[in-house]
Amino acid sequence: MSPPSGVKVVVIGAGLAGLSAASTLVKAGFQHIQVLEAMGRPGGRVHTTRPFGQDIIELGANWIHGQEGNPLFLLAQEQDLLLKESSSAKTITSTDYFFREGGRQLPMDEVEQVRALFNKLTARAFDSHLKAKHSTQSLGGYLDEKFSQSPLAASEDNPRIFEWCKRTECTDEASSSLYDVSALQLSEYVTLKGEFFNSLGPGGYQALVDTLLISLPLETVLYDSPVERIEWALEVEIHKHPVKVLCKGDQYFLADHVIITVPLGYLKENAQTMFKPALPKPKTDAIKRLGFGTVDKIYLRFKNRFWPDDCAGIQLVWDAGPEDEKVYQQSQLNDGAWRDTWYKKICGFDTVAQHPNVLCGWITGREAQHMESLDEKIVGEVCVRLLRSFTGWSVPEPAQVLMSTWGSEPFFHGSYSYIPAGVDAVKEQHALASPFPRHRKGRHSQAKGELQDLPC
Ligand SMILES: Cc1cc2nc3c(=O)[nH]c(=O)nc-3n(C[C@H](O)[C@H](O)[C@H](O)COP(=O)(O)OP(=O)(O)OC[C@H]3O[C@@H](n4cnc5c(N)ncnc54)[C@H](O)[C@@H]3O)c2cc1C
Repeated sequence: MSPPSGVKVVVIGAGLAGLSAASTLVKAGFQHIQVLEAMGRPGGRVHTTRPFGQDIIELGANWIHGQEGNPLFLLAQEQDLLLKESSSAKTITSTDYFFREGGRQLPMDEVEQVRALFNKLTARAFDSHLKAKHSTQSLGGYLDEKFSQSPLAASEDNPRIFEWCKRTECTDEASSSLYDVSALQLSEYVTLKGEFFNSLGPGGYQALVDTLLISLPLETVLYDSPVERIEWALEVEIHKHPVKVLCKGDQYFLADHVIITVPLGYLKENAQTMFKPALPKPKTDAIKRLGFGTVDKIYLRFKNRFWPDDCAGIQLVWDAGPEDEKVYQQSQLNDGAWRDTWYKKICGFDTVAQHPNVLCGWITGREAQHMESLDEKIVGEVCVRLLRSFTGWSVPEPAQVLMSTWGSEPFFHGSYSYIPAGVDAVKEQHALASPFPRHRKGRHSQAKGELQDLPC
């Protein structure tokens, strides 16, 4: 059935979600689609750059996770955008070099034992084997409880390696700490079958964005057009189109349907003033309750490579790292002291595909946000100090430092979402995604009902 002519749809945000929605509607025959994007570029949290020459550096998304039923994987496959040879992108492999504070390199078999236990414990959480008693427990608390029951906990190194595992898991959860993340709700994450870390070819993630853009009529996307207000309950008897979308300045767009794809972080900061009338309570509750955290990358380009050929990454194992339960609890009491040791949240420095002289550091949470307030030069100096003191190698000054700043970007306010301890993920995610208003009264309700089930 072809869509009724004259139906206007405004899509807010030209990230992968907004562009896919627009592309789907255009393919279905809708003729009046307007995408409004706040920034001067498409892609949103996909940000493929070339700061170090021809080869790409991803400041945002990097991998396509899983294959079966993954629309991104299917699109990349259909457009022949996947990396041909087996991925040279970073995954944690046996060639990572783990160092303890003070310069001692840890034996890989010791590291692997602890990592295997950590993976087993998180897999149980992912598969929902947890009991009801875990319903309000944090992931950090659950992992500590289980680790303390293992014979591995008795060694001097292993608890430190376990802390590194938790710190690294914060990158997947985009959380300040695993003590903030729900243990039980981890099982809501669906792992898709097939290779997990699928890498894109030389065009990176931007190639996927371009594919979607090409499928849209020219000028469908309007850049530099931040939406400030959405008036969504206009009287249909008076207004031809019941929604009014107002951008900065005087520009506005009338629509029958609006699809909102702005990040949860943006909604947390702006939802209160963005909607007239205010959003229904289940939505404002969901925006408050679901977590949205910061994950940043720190790229260091050196003139020459100083690490061995078989080294896939240099991982930092602290004596008392920020994901150690006692350290975490103390940091909760001593407001702000963690700022002095923000760099302890850096997990390590991974090598980067196609860039033989580049390392990429990962940092999360409030420490990442604090780092964003510092000058890149200072961040580079801190990273070099860490690399020198942990490895004992001769580490030169970097030729270039580049870091992402997702936490302080005004249209994102973070990197991705997580489920805080005690929050019902299914309920809140459903509340956030449900279309509203459910049943619109008046002459538009039937004729324009085709989009009623699209998530907002
Ligand atoms: C550092 C990092 C690493 C990541 N790594 C991976 C990975 O390896 N694999 C993976 O699958 N995912 C990864 N992700 C997550 C992935 O990037 C996102 O899930 C995905 O890109 C989100 O797409 P989206 O379209 O929903 O939102 P976004 O890409 O955030 O798009 C929303 C758009 O809305 C715009 N916007 C905001 N406010 C307004 C406004 N008022 N008016 C108009 N427009 C507005 C924004 O500018 C943005 O362009 C990563 C993210 C980050 C930050």
